[in-house]
Amino acid sequence: MKDRPERPKVVIIGGGFGGLYAAKALSNEAVEVTLIDRKNHHTFQPLLYQVALAVLSPGEIASPLRHILRKARNVQTLLGEVTGFDTTARRVKLLDGAELGYDYLIVAAGARHAYFGHDEWEGDAPGLKTIEDAVEIRSRLLLAFETAERAALLTGRQTLVNFAVVGGGPTGVELAGAIADLARLALAKDFKAIDTTTARVRLYEGLPRILGTFSEESSRRATQQLQELGVEVCTDSMVTAVEPGRIKVAAQWIAADVTLWATGVAASSIGKELGVETDRAGRVLIEPDLSVPGHRELFVIGDLSVLTDTSGKRVPGLAAAATQQGKAAAENILRDLHGDTRLPFTYKDRGSMATVGRHRAVAEFGNRKYSGLFAWLLWSVVHVFLLIGFRSRLAVMWQWVWAYLTRAGSSPLITEYQQTHSHATPTEHAPTPAGSKGAAVTKQ
Ligand SMILES: Cc1cc2nc3c(=O)[nH]c(=O)nc-3n(C[C@H](O)[C@H](O)[C@H](O)COP(=O)(O)OP(=O)(O)OC[C@H]3O[C@@H](n4cnc5c(N)ncnc54)[C@H](O)[C@@H]3O)c2cc1C
Repeated sequence: MKDRPERPKVVIIGGGFGGLYAAKALSNEAVEVTLIDRKNHHTFQPLLYQVALAVLSPGEIASPLRHILRKARNVQTLLGEVTGFDTTARRVKLLDGAELGYDYLIVAAGARHAYFGHDEWEGDAPGLKTIEDAVEIRSRLLLAFETAERAALLTGRQTLVNFAVVGGGPTGVELAGAIADLARLALAKDFKAIDTTTARVRLYEGLPRILGTFSEESSRRATQQLQELGVEVCTDSMVTAVEPGRIKVAAQWIAADVTLWATGVAASSIGKELGVETDRAGRVLIEPDLSVPGHRELFVIGDLSVLTDTSGKRVPGLAAAATQQGKAAAENILRDLHGDTRLPFTYKDRGSMATVGRHRAVAEFGNRKYSGLFAWLLWSVVHVFLLIGFRSRLAVMWQWVWAYLTRAGSSPLITEYQQTHSHATPTEHAPTPAGSKGAAVTKQ
């Protein structure tokens, strides 16, 4: 590396929305930045469910961090897992024993879904957070249909395929609607022994209505649109146990070939390693300037943090908020270096949207509320615009047009075939199909 005068070192943990936008805002400024992530790519999480539902391929919604930041001469990218900190000596510790010093630290390690003290449910009810989760969920969904088809072919028995989505927030609504579309449209002609359109998709929400952060009107419209797609919307329905092939709702066990989890927040465990105050979900309590009390050099942003901003509202766990916080933390560091006063953070709410199936959505911008195809078009424009990289935007737009015209998915591939995932395998006298032991890995 070329010799440069000593410049303040900024370490950023996490190349998600918060960390990436902080790095971009510090790009080509008079600081040395190191962005650490345990993945080599940034994932555009709002479109993950489309990978899970075989509409998009992983490469269309994820880009290598190194490539995104290639023009930022002062930003280094480091692949590694952060495991701890020495906030007194200002050092970050990595899993492989390496350590890095910093003058400023921005921690943006995000959150996952919480299982309300039942982490053992995760194996039977995976959540959607990473590309790996999406590919795993896609395999489970497709395998459920394959298993039913196999039973019909080999034993003549028709089995009903049951899907359960737990959590009626935007992710749960998107997943439930998209599974219904997958069963009704994308796969209907591909399976010959079973009728995929008879699959049952149930969405469970513990509260009286879905989309609790949206208005009642949008919630009602989303429910209506889901029902039109054939989704059974079960509100006031708390899931109290999950087992292979079934879930318990109140006192009743209900068959579920695939259960997906889309509720609760559990902050990244490295928040606790900072040794500062956290809430029950493990999120770090931060000051209006996004730093941690007593540590002006340490910023925690995005889903890992909790803040009531200057407008008196709780900053939501959304990509838009993490992005704005990433830019604001970077700006406050630069203000320090220029001798200016730091600015308190105010979240700019530009609206909320949730898709319902392939071509419907609900959208709210202040008092304006939209639903149906128009809301979906708004949702698509916003999401394509926010995707990183021109190539991804073009590829995603093309896939959507193709999916709209053909009603087909782009990549309905099962990448790992493990019999343990199927709960309705027709074992009686059925020969094992060729290739059932191995992994069928094809282009994703
Ligand atoms: C399925 C889904 C759909 C969503 N849809 C929307 C939507 O439509 N609109 C919206 O606004 N928001 C949406 N969100 C929420 C949004 O994606 C999050 O609020 C946002 O990603 C938070 O950004 P972040 O930077 O805090 O964390 P993340 O984007 O989660 O990034 C965290 C990064 O930290 C890295 N990391 C974690 N721990 C470590 C470690 N120990 N060492 C090194 N690296 C680490 C991770 O690999 C990751 O890259 C959605 C979320 C999901 C899961």
